[in-house]
Amino acid sequence: MKIPSITLADGNTIPQIALGLWKNKDAAEFNTAFDAAIKAGYRHFDSAQAYGNEQFLGERWKQSGLQREELFITTKIAVQHFGYHSAKRTFAESLEKLQTDYVDLLLLHFPVPVLRKRTWQAVEEIHAAGQARSIGVSNYMINHLEGLKKYAKTMPVINQVELHVFLQQPELVTYCRDHNITLEAYSPLAHGKAMDNPVVVGLAEKHGKSYAQIMLRWCLEQDFVVLPKSVTPKRIQQNIDIFDFKLDADDRAALAKQDQNLRICWSPVHVP
Ligand code: NAP
Repeated sequence: MKIPSITLADGNTIPQIALGLWKNKDAAEFNTAFDAAIKAGYRHFDSAQAYGNEQFLGERWKQSGLQREELFITTKIAVQHFGYHSAKRTFAESLEKLQTDYVDLLLLHFPVPVLRKRTWQAVEEIHAAGQARSIGVSNYMINHLEGLKKYAKTMPVINQVELHVFLQQPELVTYCRDHNITLEAYSPLAHGKAMDNPVVVGLAEKHGKSYAQIMLRWCLEQDFVVLPKSVTPKRIQQNIDIFDFKLDADDRAALAKQDQNLRICWSPVHVP
């Protein structure tokens, strides 16, 4: 299965589905998930300093026999590493762990007050040095992006935020589209909890697909990059098997009504 790509504002391309790697902290489990993902057709892996698995990713991709250019690797500067020097030092460590001399995408993990400005400057320099092909942010709301606009020499091409059927964030989505910032949908399955919303259940029956596949297809049709996490090979396969059906206008209208502004991850809403 070849996953389609999206062209970013900087001209680079990004595979539209990634394997999410949060909470994937056990080496054996990591390797099983990585191998299943490669076999299924994933080439994009969403890691972070905070996930504690950059080392596993570096070791496993090296063993995979794939060329570096075939993979799309993301990492993120952890909140405790914000600050100009700390970001640069720990990013160098990330490259070592990942066994590469560049990442495809480097993100600021969260809009940490005050420190995020100098940290962005470090990220801009890393980008200018060619060690991060694309740069972006995560968990940025409109106010954080407006603030960034005032001092950024390079604007982010990605904003990775919590986005799913139950947290649709329409104002942020419109803002990012207007500013040519591609959205990455994290926790697209709303953590895989409950999975009993009657509208989603009904659409799964209608299309002969799973609950998870309806949730992911909704993201895909909004042109988001989607980051489902699983350590279960069957689910990893199932989560990219979403290109053989489409939601129709009625489906989209029914799903639009399921927005509950339900945040299940950390919230940046009140961060100044
Ligand atoms: P998620 O992808 O919404 O849900 C993951 C959960 O759903 C896991 O428990 C998984 O179980 C289960 N699952 C996966 N596929 C399934 C399927 N087909 N059917 C039923 N259950 C399924 O949650 P997430 O990990 O919070 O988010 C995904 C990724 O987004 C993360 O891994 C990370 O890369 C990124 N993220 C970023 C941030 C940020 O601040 N930037 C925050 C959160 C997440 P098993 O693993 O047991 O199969």
